[in-house]
Amino acid sequence: MLIDQQAGTVTVEGEDWPVVADALPRRTFAIISHPDAGKTTLTEKLLHEGGAIREAGEVFSKGNRRRARSDWMAIEQQRGISVTSSVMTFEHQGIRFNLLDTPGHEDFSEDTYRTLTAVDCAVMVIDAAKGIEAQTLKLFEVCRLRSIPIITFINKIDREGRSPFELLDEIADKLALDTAPMSWPIGMGGMFRGLYSFEEDRAWLIDKVGGALCPTIIDGAGLDDERLLAAVSSQTHDGLLEDAALAAEACPAFDRTAFLSGDMTPVYFGSALRKYGIASLLSALARHAPPPQPQPALPEPVEPDASDVAGFVFKMQANMDPNHRDRVAFMRVCSGTLKRGMKLGNSRTGKTIGLHNPIFFLARDRELTEEARPGDIVGIPNHGTLRVGDTLSERSGLAFTGLPDFAPEILRRVRLDDPMKIKQMRKALLDLAEEGIARVFRPLEGSNWVVGVVGALQLEVISTRSEAEYGLAIGFEATAYETARWIDIADEPMRKRFIASQRANLAEDGDDALVFLARNGWELERVQKEWPEVSFSAVRERI
Ligand code: GDP
Repeated sequence: MLIDQQAGTVTVEGEDWPVVADALPRRTFAIISHPDAGKTTLTEKLLHEGGAIREAGEVFSKGNRRRARSDWMAIEQQRGISVTSSVMTFEHQGIRFNLLDTPGHEDFSEDTYRTLTAVDCAVMVIDAAKGIEAQTLKLFEVCRLRSIPIITFINKIDREGRSPFELLDEIADKLALDTAPMSWPIGMGGMFRGLYSFEEDRAWLIDKVGGALCPTIIDGAGLDDERLLAAVSSQTHDGLLEDAALAAEACPAFDRTAFLSGDMTPVYFGSALRKYGIASLLSALARHAPPPQPQPALPEPVEPDASDVAGFVFKMQANMDPNHRDRVAFMRVCSGTLKRGMKLGNSRTGKTIGLHNPIFFLARDRELTEEARPGDIVGIPNHGTLRVGDTLSERSGLAFTGLPDFAPEILRRVRLDDPMKIKQMRKALLDLAEEGIARVFRPLEGSNWVVGVVGALQLEVISTRSEAEYGLAIGFEATAYETARWIDIADEPMRKRFIASQRANLAEDGDDALVFLARNGWELERVQKEWPEVSFSAVRERI
């Protein structure tokens, strides 16, 4: 990256950007991982490295996040929606980074998935001892759906873990991605002595000074550098040379085009806890991650340099206070410069919405900015007029496409305490389904509706909001079903035959699309084999 103060430009990977107030290049990204791999720690250290927080843990400790979440869930919470940790923005080395939080753990929901539709790049954190875990895989699959480029960070190399080669092989095998190691640990676990960056030709070594770990940096080192030889045992040094030679032979060199198309991942090793490898990861985001990308839309994709404002809503956060039914819609700006007071058309309703109180996410120490540019996120408070998937734009007839609905992983029958209120319950469920909070399934046989969610937290949200907003006490009961697939059959006679044969397992969702409810994976597989012409889909695009 080159900053030319006189010309007033910054050059990132061959692209020139003017350095004026807020027109900095953007990097909009998320971090994906399995719980406990170190996402919270890494986020905090990245924010610290980027100057967004002065002391690690200042605004982003796990305790704070937990509190924020439980605040949000508490019905008696005062007016005000905590959105601060959803979008974290910082400016570093002439680039504006927008880091979108993807809640994990028990917060896991469709918002986590959909947030990935609003980023241009993802950092995948892997625990060096555990490799690729279930949730990493799920989140990765969503990234693949959109060909989102992935930067890999193998964390916890200060602890006993698996060999770097084994980890690289696993990524290549399980994710079908080429891996390009950009750095390498010098020893691991008890033998951990530092990191070597092939990319920067730099070694970070760990000294024991007064019992504390502190790094020595050897610049322009080269693997045979005498300073490196002097600092580590010959056994460790030999190991590094051997590994580096083997890695150069076995792994392809980093190819940015393959990375940007989602076929290759650059791999960085490090320790979030000890802050090793963080600076390299941040500069990788600056150097390699793509700027805001064109977004799929009808009648044609929206280019980030188009002058009119357009964006899509990818997430909704509701205020749990029943007296204030306001919600915050999170919108990714895809083109134009969004300003306070602007009026944008909603392509779903045909109505215009005035942006009187948009929430801009600002980097620390920045004066109040009243604009958002492509790649930025704005929060739009509203009273239920906006939904996940909505397009807001100055252009009429524009609609973003490709926001996915995901097959639910938890299916529950809805139990209504007062059977007289069945009509209200159906309305409430359909409203919440439209908002994107849950799927609703109406079985073709029987009258009991089923709700489907991908995270247990969504069930809590449904019952809390049904009570607060519709005065309904509802609970959930187990169903025989474990999973659901959207069905597509081109041939009409075959569609009729399929429905007649599988009627007991079929339902319609809130948009009247046909859905197959399966008791288990085995049953799903059996029916799929029986009906090879029928497409069973775990993801459905909202258009
Ligand atoms: P999350 O669940 O993915 O957000 O993970 P956390 O950031 O909360 O980390 C989970 C645990 O791993 C915590 O106890 C961290 O202190 C620990 N941890 C995170 N990064 C490292 C690391 O680089 N080395 C070691 N030894 N522990 C780490």
